[in-house]
Amino acid sequence: MYKHILHDHLDGGLRPSTAKELAEIIGYKPINNVEDVANFFDRSNCDSLEDYLEAFTHTIALMQSYENIEQIAYEAAIDMNDNGVNYYESRYAPFYSVNNDLSPIDVIDAINSGFEQAENEKGIISGLILCGMRHDPQNVSAVADLAVEIKDKIIGFDIAGPEYNYLPSLYRDSFVKIKDAGINITIHAGEGDGVHSIQDALDNGARRIGHGVRIIEDVKENDSLGKTANYILDKQIPLEICITSNLHTNMYEDVHAHPISKLYELGFNISLNTDNRLMSNTSVLNELEMAKLTGIEKPSELINFSASDSFLN
Ligand SMILES: [Zn+2]
Repeated sequence: MYKHILHDHLDGGLRPSTAKELAEIIGYKPINNVEDVANFFDRSNCDSLEDYLEAFTHTIALMQSYENIEQIAYEAAIDMNDNGVNYYESRYAPFYSVNNDLSPIDVIDAINSGFEQAENEKGIISGLILCGMRHDPQNVSAVADLAVEIKDKIIGFDIAGPEYNYLPSLYRDSFVKIKDAGINITIHAGEGDGVHSIQDALDNGARRIGHGVRIIEDVKENDSLGKTANYILDKQIPLEICITSNLHTNMYEDVHAHPISKLYELGFNISLNTDNRLMSNTSVLNELEMAKLTGIEKPSELINFSASDSFLN
């Protein structure tokens, strides 16, 4: 049985031990004297998005050389494999690692090299989705151009970062280019913003929706569906659900308030994903447990089912 993970950020999934090791090697002060690195990164109880995002400045600081990036990608794939996953889709905003010694293509090659080593050792197949950062128009257009230039080295394109006020339509030209090049599109939508953002993602070519949980706001009390929810259900557009991440960014009070079981009951195409394993102190196995807590009896089926939606096919 194939098990796929569709939504996981490379810079959100470092092993705490690796973060410590790499910080020591490069003399990265904010982590050097930290005893409990897992706790340093854990944003389970953070009270603002800024606090959540601050953690990424530290992981990205450790992703500035070919070797480090390669190791981090290798370990991400190995850790997924150890959780029973055999197809792993990872995503990253490549320009965060570009510096005088590292070109955007070097960054992508380093990630793919790490994935290849894991595949050779364990058989897990991994691929990279490039993320443009939606609060930075220049970044989105540069990542889109890069994606088209090296499309054989990647499996998809996404925009990440703050969703509110940054609708996909702002980048219509980039999405047209990406689509024309035949590159798969998934878009973070329906997390920091509502149903109109999900509709806008669909209008810009998204084949899958990152998170997408707020589609529940288009489901009325008698279970009748609005236009966007109806389309998503009818076309079985995959929603890349990340339960723990949603709780940590304070979208829902607790796991029981999360809409995943309702979406499941209504027949939406949902998969279980990890988003940021380090910051959310989670894993695939933990997400399976979380899904069980919401009342879904066989959550592993969601991971098997997502196989048909993989960009790795
Ligand atoms: Zn995400």
